[in-house]
Amino acid sequence: MKKLTPLISFLLLSLSLWANTANSTQRPRIVILATGGTIAGSASSSTQASYKPGVISVEQIIATVPDIEKIAILKSIQVCNISSQNMELSIWFKLYNTIDSLFSNDLCDGVVITHGTDTMEETAYFLNLTIKHSRPVVLTGAMRPSTSLSADGPFNLFNAVSVAASQKTINRGVMVVMNDFILSADDVTKTNTVNTAAFSCPNYGPLGYIRDGEPRFFRESVAKHTVNSEFDIKGMNTLPPVEIIYSYTFSSIIPVRALIEANVKGIVVAGVGHGNYSAAVKNELEKGSRKGVAIIRSTRIASGGVDCAAEDYDPSWPVAYLKNPQKARILLMLALIKSSKSSESLNPKEIQRIFTEY
Ligand code: ASP
Repeated sequence: MKKLTPLISFLLLSLSLWANTANSTQRPRIVILATGGTIAGSASSSTQASYKPGVISVEQIIATVPDIEKIAILKSIQVCNISSQNMELSIWFKLYNTIDSLFSNDLCDGVVITHGTDTMEETAYFLNLTIKHSRPVVLTGAMRPSTSLSADGPFNLFNAVSVAASQKTINRGVMVVMNDFILSADDVTKTNTVNTAAFSCPNYGPLGYIRDGEPRFFRESVAKHTVNSEFDIKGMNTLPPVEIIYSYTFSSIIPVRALIEANVKGIVVAGVGHGNYSAAVKNELEKGSRKGVAIIRSTRIASGGVDCAAEDYDPSWPVAYLKNPQKARILLMLALIKSSKSSESLNPKEIQRIFTEY
């Protein structure tokens, strides 16, 4: 095994015996990496809307889905137990390193990550661009806590394990499974704050759905991912700072100014309409641009994206195409690794190429 952090080495060592024994059972070996969220949440009554996320353990969640052991042989790791609004870069790196080691050492056939729904799409997209393996990685969560009447977590977990255990899901990129749908990491987004039908792919539609534990696909993921991704974060533990500014009627220039003064490397604009911002904000962004800050134009609109065909397209300020602002931020952070390695600014043409392909 390659050189790893002590915690990951220990986990992998304890998994090797399981992986060998599990191999002889003929069922796919699935590792569940648990991070918290509402799927691990608990309330004091079964009908109460308020609850505390990230309190029950992954073993307790699995125990609510007895049939899961029929489709796969499972091992679980409690990576953390948090609300996903508190997700951190260090946990992203821990997930990346663990998954990379599991697959590189043939310790499992697929990975399921349980995650809070608020930032699930971001973790999914980060892993979609960095994991260099074709075996399935599936994220799932819940909109109702584990104690709720008709909690959605158990079925979502069953479906996610079914997808990760299926041969049909090799080389499809990182997927999100929620509410019976299989959604691609590049397009999935949370579109409802409370309903169990909270996720969609607003531009391309879902990849497929699950029926009786069987994934059925409508389409392939269209953007480059996993084994075809050029982003290599092996051995790294940080990413260049990139932030987002939101556009609205007479928006203030204060946030842009503060970000430039804080020496961010990139700013994603969640523009109005087709990636637009006021003349005053543009003026501030230009100052950043002259200092070498990469500017990307995305949109606060849920679908349609921002493309180069617009009249106001300026090649020095690349557009995000169909990436929403939070995904454009992740792609730009990874793109900027290249310039942080060479200490030269990445030219806008190269950034635009990256946003066209991923
Ligand atoms: N606040 C929770 C989280 O994202 C919400 C959820 O899981 O649905 O962790």
